[in-house]
Amino acid sequence: MTEKSYDVIVVGAGNAALCAALSAREHGAKVLVLERAPFEQRGGNSAYSGGGMRIVHNGVADIKEFVPDLSAEDIAATDFGVYTAEQFYDDLGKITEYRIDPDLAEVLVKRSTDTARWIRDKGVRFAPMYGAKTFKHEGRYKFSTGSVIAVVGGGRGLIDAHIKSAEKMGIEIRYGTRAIALLQGASGIEGVRVVANRVEQEIRARAIVLACGGFQANREMRTRYLGPGWDLAKVRGTRYNTGDGANMALAAGAQPCGQWSGANACEWDMNAPDYGDINIGDAYSKHSYYFGIVLNADGDRFLDEGADVGNSTYAKYGRIILQQPGQYAWQIFDSKVLHLLRSSYRIKKVTKVTANTLEELFAKIEGVNKEQALKTISAYNAAVKQDVRFDPNVKDGRGTSGLVIPKSNWANTIDTPPYEAYGVTCGITFTYGGPKITPNAEVVDVEEQPISGLYAAGELVGGIFYFNIPGGCGLMNGAVFGRVAGENAARHALGL
Ligand SMILES: Cc1cc2nc3c(=O)[nH]c(=O)nc-3n(C[C@H](O)[C@H](O)[C@H](O)COP(=O)(O)OP(=O)(O)OC[C@H]3O[C@@H](n4cnc5c(N)ncnc54)[C@H](O)[C@@H]3O)c2cc1C
Repeated sequence: MTEKSYDVIVVGAGNAALCAALSAREHGAKVLVLERAPFEQRGGNSAYSGGGMRIVHNGVADIKEFVPDLSAEDIAATDFGVYTAEQFYDDLGKITEYRIDPDLAEVLVKRSTDTARWIRDKGVRFAPMYGAKTFKHEGRYKFSTGSVIAVVGGGRGLIDAHIKSAEKMGIEIRYGTRAIALLQGASGIEGVRVVANRVEQEIRARAIVLACGGFQANREMRTRYLGPGWDLAKVRGTRYNTGDGANMALAAGAQPCGQWSGANACEWDMNAPDYGDINIGDAYSKHSYYFGIVLNADGDRFLDEGADVGNSTYAKYGRIILQQPGQYAWQIFDSKVLHLLRSSYRIKKVTKVTANTLEELFAKIEGVNKEQALKTISAYNAAVKQDVRFDPNVKDGRGTSGLVIPKSNWANTIDTPPYEAYGVTCGITFTYGGPKITPNAEVVDVEEQPISGLYAAGELVGGIFYFNIPGGCGLMNGAVFGRVAGENAARHALGL
């Protein structure tokens, strides 16, 4: 069955897709959004996210633009720093080991702040990320990266605001409708084949934006592309991102691009369900590991917990945990740092053990070699550079000396009860490989030629993230390229 046609069809209803839909509508297109998930699970990974967005900014005046009700006390107590376009560009280069497509990086950096303003003007509210990216230390907060603001209400708040705007602008959204193939004709991409309630149909459009996520929720593709063991990872977010976007694009001739063997994966509660729980959202994340140490089943440390700010390490440590015996590890803290742990450590559904002695702690933890764990902690305590001042807000250089695996910053001895331990495993966020796009978000074929009428944005696109990602870039990437894709799809559809 074929039904009425649209100018632009957007596949997905996460942040990238809804930004594409809003932008296409703003440019005059008649837009249909297809969301595979039912209404209650709408919004993809974006809805599960913490809502943090990285922007270029010049300090408090710019932050106030996004947080108009910032109080005088907060301003007085906070150093927001400055995050220049050059710093953002450098961070993207360094963190992706200089593999990021420089043209896409430039668009992401240059359009970040303006796109955040565009989102704000559509009703999304922001707040500074106190307690996550900065901590009150000696009476002051200090942000040290471009990750300063997050959406009020987190990812759910972001998606609800986007959907409200979309409805206000007359954009049609169909839930429970999965795109399964692109329709190709003489003029390029001419529509999509969808399935809803087990019935297939074709819907025609002059342009299609694919913004339907990576393949992280597809165990088979995960194992095929990321490698053995990835079938055992837990999915942090939506169960609906199973690689349909990449598969549809490749079947239509798109060029595979980026790191198909790479994924954003972090430390995640070891007893979390196989897929994200929208009522818990991001709170299974256990991102405060850099204030303690992390031990595997053998009782050994296996990574530098303080190698860099959490924003620059969290997305690559999930992979290392997956490589440990049993695919789990325990984060260990003592009372000196408990007040610095993020709020996600205080939720009810948490794998946590507490004790007043280390012997008692490891007697309670199942599956960790107790004798070796105690030896590891004793060697670690002896190696802490006690003469360097601890500062949770900057890379303080308070590391260890003489350990085979150093802890480079925020090293404190673990010797003051009560002790807390948190069981973690690998939680995969999203995959890095996908179809190649131009800076105009056009999908290109193997000869670098745009496939007429086909655009893509968000985490399904390849060529942006490799090995790692600076925190707050997942949403900003989706917003920037979603907006670009929507505009260009509308122009193409309307012949502008
Ligand atoms: C727990 C968690 C916390 C995070 N925190 C942050 C953060 O604070 N800051 C940040 O920048 N990033 C964060 N991220 C990453 C960020 O959420 C993603 O990078 C970003 O949301 C991806 O947006 P997207 O629109 O590309 O994909 P999604 O938001 O996942 O949207 C994809 C959409 O496509 C739909 N879909 C899939 N297949 C089909 C199909 N065949 N047909 C129709 N629809 C389909 C899905 O249902 C979904 O609605 C977090 C992720 C998770 C899981």
